[in-house]
Amino acid sequence: MRRFGALLAALLLAGTLAACGGQEAREMQTTQIFAMDTVMALRAAGGETEAALQAAEEEIYRLDEELSRTREDSAVSRLNSAPAGTAADVGTELYDLIARALDFSAATDGAFDITLAPVSSAWGFTEDAYRVPAQTELDALLAHVGAEHVHLEGEGSVSLDAGTRIDLGAIAKGYASDRMAEIFQSHGVTHGIVDLGGNTWVCGGNLEGEPWQIGIQDPARESGALAGILQATDAFAVTSGGYQRYFEEDGVTYHHIIDPATGRPAESGLTSVTVVADGTVGNGTMCDALSTALFVMGEERALDLWRSGVYDFDLVLVTADGRLLVTDGIADRFQPDETAGYAYEVVS
Ligand code: AMP
Ligand code: MG
Repeated sequence: MRRFGALLAALLLAGTLAACGGQEAREMQTTQIFAMDTVMALRAAGGETEAALQAAEEEIYRLDEELSRTREDSAVSRLNSAPAGTAADVGTELYDLIARALDFSAATDGAFDITLAPVSSAWGFTEDAYRVPAQTELDALLAHVGAEHVHLEGEGSVSLDAGTRIDLGAIAKGYASDRMAEIFQSHGVTHGIVDLGGNTWVCGGNLEGEPWQIGIQDPARESGALAGILQATDAFAVTSGGYQRYFEEDGVTYHHIIDPATGRPAESGLTSVTVVADGTVGNGTMCDALSTALFVMGEERALDLWRSGVYDFDLVLVTADGRLLVTDGIADRFQPDETAGYAYEVVS
């Protein structure tokens, strides 16, 4: 029995190592990067750690240049500045990402929408020039918002209708975390944690053989105060919340996640949404898109999508009326923070 236990433990360990590839590790190496408007922290051990971190850093800078809409020479800017209705060659990577974004729009009844760019600009979120636009101004911009204004022309070509612009801010970091997972795996990294500002990917646990602990920010308290902690060894976890970016005017708070139905900051009764999925490459993009969309959709529609099984994920939701909801797929790995004072519920 004891030998069987030891064998099982060895097999489990082998499974963990195989999940991220490569041989045994002794030391954790760390890199910090500022890109995509965010401080990013990467930690890795095992395999070709140094080469992995170097490649990861270069890849983040490359993606920042390609996917930013404020850099004039990015692929996104080339598309946004192409004449209306004209197919622009954006390359297969951006083409595929836009195609996925359009799928998420369809699956979320339009709550996820990369064409909100002109609306985000009207609020000043893109340019750091905050203001509250008149509803008439927003309505005029909303005429050009919607997935139907983006046309996949095939072979890396995309066209936009007149007045339509795209912004991948709600999905780019998730896509970057997928690329980080691919790079770490191809370099045989056995233990890793990549935090791209609210977008986390973990593999293999820490060097003490314990799961990684992913802290989930309490949206109602100062930075670093947690709503709870998720333990994971192979997962993506992405959080969206109005607290991450906002401004105040005349005593009213306006945040950066826009409801495409109104053009105004979403008021769905949720203050934070964390989407969790296993570490399969591709799930980083999914978690990022869904965390933004579900923040717009609110508790009921978020849980409907979770129950529908269309996508395989779990949720941590914080509500404006003081509840902390966790779906049952991760409840045994989630520890609520008592000092946050939320009423804790496990949802099934
Ligand atoms: P995230 O932090 O991933 O939730 O993404 C928020 C960012 O995505 C914002 O700063 C905007 O650039 C953009 N955005 C805002 N609202 C939406 C939306 N409903 N769908 C897609 N992107 C959005
Ligand atoms: Mg997102």
